[in-house]
Formats: sequence, C-alpha cells, structure tokens
Amino acid sequence: MLSRYLIEGVDWPEKEGLKNAEEFLKHFGDTDRRKRSEKLQTRLTGEYWADHIPKLKKTLTSETVARMESRSSRATALIWKAYPLTEDFALTNDEMRFTVAYATGQRLPHMPERCGCAHKADLTMEHTVNCSEKLTRHNMIQDRFVAFARQHGVHTKTNPRLLTQTKEQRLQPDVVFYPGTHAPLQTDVTVINPCAPYILKKSSRAHNWATKTRKAEKRLKYLAAAKAKGDDFKPLVFETHGKMAEEIKDLLNMLASNTTMDRGLAVSDMQLDLAVTLARGNALAARDTIGKAEKERDTQRAIHPRLVNNNNGKKRYVRKADIRN
Ligand SMILES: [Zn+2]
Repeated sequence: MLSRYLIEGVDWPEKEGLKNAEEFLKHFGDTDRRKRSEKLQTRLTGEYWADHIPKLKKTLTSETVARMESRSSRATALIWKAYPLTEDFALTNDEMRFTVAYATGQRLPHMPERCGCAHKADLTMEHTVNCSEKLTRHNMIQDRFVAFARQHGVHTKTNPRLLTQTKEQRLQPDVVFYPGTHAPLQTDVTVINPCAPYILKKSSRAHNWATKTRKAEKRLKYLAAAKAKGDDFKPLVFETHGKMAEEIKDLLNMLASNTTMDRGLAVSDMQLDLAVTLARGNALAARDTIGKAEKERDTQRAIHPRLVNNNNGKKRYVRKADIRN
C-alpha cells in the first residue's frame, strides 16, 4: 500500500525498508518504537502532497487555484461556524445558498452566461461579487466597526460613502477611532476580490499580491494626511472569500482591550460578525449583478419588443437586436 508514495524524485532514508517487506516490518513494526512509524507516516504524507499539489494545480484553472488559496485562511472558515446565537448571526436561506455556491465556484442554475454590465463579461461566480454596486457591502462592514466601537466605549467619526461624493470628499477616511489612550486611528474599509479575472490576468500568482497592492494604494492615499494630523492610519482589507488582513485583527484587539466592566465583545465574536456581514454583502452584490444580467438577457431575447418610428411615419415593433444591426 505504501508503495504508492514511492514516486519519482522522492528519496527516503527508509526507501529500502519500503521496498522490502521484511526490512520494513523489522524497522517500523517495532512496537516499542511507535514514533518511527508515526514519523514515517507524517513525512510520507508531507512529501506526497508537496509533490502532488503543484501537479494538481497545473490541471486546474487559475481561478480555481486562486480561490482555493484565498480560502485557506482561518477567517474564511468562520462563516461555517456561524451559530445563530442572535438574529444578527443568522443568514437567510438565500444568503447561505449563495455563500455555498460562491465558496465552491459552482454557478447558480438560473444564472445567465453573460453579465449585464458594459463589458458584457462572462458571468462567473467571481464576477457576481465585484461587478455592480458594492457600496452597500462596504457600508455594512463600516457600520459593524462603528457598532463594535460603541460597545467598547470608543468614540468614532464616520464619513459615510455615497455614490454622489466628490473626489475630495472621498479622500476622507471611512472611520476615525478615538481610543483616548493612544493617537486617533484613521481607517479605510476595502473589499477586494483576489480571484477576479482582471487580477488573475496579470500573473498566475497575482491573487497573492492583490491585497498587498491594495494596502499600499490606501496608504499612499491616506497615510501622509493622517500623520500630518498626528493620527495613525490602517487600511482594513477584506478579501471577498473572507480572509481579513492583520490590521483588522489589530483594530479588534484594540477595541477588546478597551472593554469596560462586563460590556464588550470578544475578538472572535467580532470576527465572526464581520464574516457574516461580508457574506451578506457578497450575496447582496451578487443578487444585484445577476438580476441585472437576467434583465439584459431578456432584452436581448426581445421578449419585450420596442415601439419605434418607421421611416414612413408609422410605428412598428422591433427587436432590440435589430436596432443594433
Ligand atoms: Zn459585469
């Protein structure tokens, strides 16, 4: 059975023992030295996967690889542990259905092939969370941070994000925290999809530096102005698959350390809350994207013909496809 681990390029000190049943039993069957066989098992499995995973990756699409890698984080797994202690922690059936589909990259059965956006992009599961209106998701997460701060008696100043804002107004940080014990902390909440086609197109490892690049962009935009005021600045970067950047944990730790008496939340509870909020925000963004795509598909199918003026002054119904041609 173990011979399947004897793949090319793997050289074991115990190789002979693996080929020769007698030697094998003598060396590893020694029940007084069970550590030998336990160690062997661990090392064999480790070597096998180290060899197997790169090969496996070559057989998968770059999107699948990026998804698997960006999902291998503890924060990503939180959503599956969401136990509805309160109403706030409960996802609706639709939200959960989308969350599972998004996690696995499986399309929802009714989804159109093409997006309704100007790019007419392929409507993949990854595209659903980063195509259309994302401000709602952003503001939902921002609101949670403000609510946590209130629970811990930390003052905040919020700059709500609106679609109508000017460039200057957008230069304001999302939330400023005033912990009192140290300098005010300016923050910017951002959600990035490291598996989006435009990121994957850049290179096969692009998803790995997608978050890093976004953080650097945010620092460039806000840090100098924050420092000039004597404030600190932290970008709060979430990945759509749930991974949360270190700065988020730092902020939650800061809030948790401000717990007064019996009021306040544990860091893990706040993280779970954020994971649920993010999943909800994703489902909402997807609902918007898919709904628009369905509407566009219907228009293209000319289910609703349009009434237009004919050359001779009479009106007639035409298919939209005909207008284009
Ligand atoms: Zn689109």
